Formats: sequence, structure tokens, C-alpha cells
Amino acid sequence: MSTIRDRFLCVYEKIFNTCIKYGRDPNSIKLVVVTKKQPVEKILQLLQAGASILGENYPEEIQGKRLMIPDEFVFQWHMIGHIQSRKIKYVVKFCDFVHSIDSLDLGLKLDQACVTAKTTIPAFIEINISGEQSKQGFNLQNSEGKSLFFRNFDKLLQSQGIQLIGLMTMPPYSKVAEDSRQVFRTCRVLLEEIQAEFKLTSFTQLSMGTSQDFEVAIQEGATYLRIGEAIMGERTSV
Ligand SMILES: *Cc1c(COP(=O)(O)O)cnc(C)c1O
Repeated sequence: MSTIRDRFLCVYEKIFNTCIKYGRDPNSIKLVVVTKKQPVEKILQLLQAGASILGENYPEEIQGKRLMIPDEFVFQWHMIGHIQSRKIKYVVKFCDFVHSIDSLDLGLKLDQACVTAKTTIPAFIEINISGEQSKQGFNLQNSEGKSLFFRNFDKLLQSQGIQLIGLMTMPPYSKVAEDSRQVFRTCRVLLEEIQAEFKLTSFTQLSMGTSQDFEVAIQEGATYLRIGEAIMGERTSV
């Protein structure tokens, strides 16, 4: 049976090989290992294997886990799931990055909370490209949705507490990696459009690709991969 360490190294090798094959710089890609619903024993094995970024979906899970992880491990917590307003305070306290700014309201509230706490947090804007109802994120289905998104984006750009660094997206679930390509490509094109429209030089990151489709995501320009089960195994409980 493979260990977490084996699978972590195996995923790293796949990332590296895909970069070489498609002309990407391996140093431009960061691996967020998604540890939601994984027990702390497994997270410790992961940290011992050398992981430096952990992704979680539920702030209260981070709160529970962090106290059980020895100080010797230096790593970042990235919030990748939907954030309820009443959980914002935990995100400001415990998280180094946020991948899931999925509404203007959340963005403004998180900004305010960061300003109050005298901190800043790098953040991705989550976009819903497929239009699936079950998906979070700014909806960009039609030209109306898009112009509204651009207006909201302009408001979020004024933030002092959140530092916008790029876009995040999650394609519809599929066992076939190729199915995600169009969504990833649309996300990258939108990133370029935003850079041009708002004359941004530091809005450059793309958080996309999971266990199912990270190799396709690399080909389409991903800079942050969010990979869970391919490394951690099946999710069980907390
Ligand atoms: C759970 C989750 C992932 C990881 O998915 P895996 O299939 O376990 O790789 C990535 N991104 C988000 C937003 C998630 O909720």
C-alpha cells in the first residue's frame, strides 16, 4: 500500500514532468494539498513529507487542527471553500491565503475584517464558469453577468485588507480530465482580460486543477493546484 509520502512525491513528479513537457517553469507552480475531512495523523505525515501549503474548506476545522500540529512545522493554511459571514473572523486569524472570494459582499466584509485586524490577506476571486447552480463564485454566463462582474471587481480592487492576486475556478465534476480544459482556458483568458482592462501587473495567479485534472490545468496556465485525494486518500472525518 502506498503512503502519503509516496503519493505526495508521485504528484510532485507528475507536476514536474507535465511542466517540462508543456514548457512551464516548475517553480511557477504551487501545490496546495487539500486536507479537509482528513485526520490530523495523516496531516502530520504529509507535513513530514515536506508539504508547505495546506488547503481547508471549513474554518472551524482549521481551528481544531492547528492546536494539534507541533510548532516545528512551518506551513501556510489556504482557505479554499465557501466562507460564511460569521466565520470571517476565523479566516482572518488562521488563514494565509483565501482562494474563494465568491461574492462582492464577502469580499467587502473580509476586507473590513482585515483592516480592523491591521492585516492583509492575498486573495483569489472565484468565478463560476460553467454556470452550475451548485457552484460558488461570480457568475459570468452572459454579457450582463460579465459587466456586473467587472463593476464588482473594480470595487474589490479598492480594498486595503485583501490583496487580489488572481482567479480561482472549479469545473463541473468529471472523471475525464479533458472535460475541464475549456473551463480552465476560459479562466485564463478572463485573467488576461482583467489585467488589460484594469492595467494590473500583480493580478497573475490562477488557482485551478484538482486530483482529477491537474495536468490539464498546468497546460492551461494554473499556478496554484488544489490536490486532495490523490495525495491524502479518501476523505473520512475530521
Ligand atoms: C475538495 C476540494 C479540492 C480537492 O479535490 P480532490 O478531488 O480531493 O483533489 C479542490 N478544490 C476545492 C475547492 C475543494 O473543495
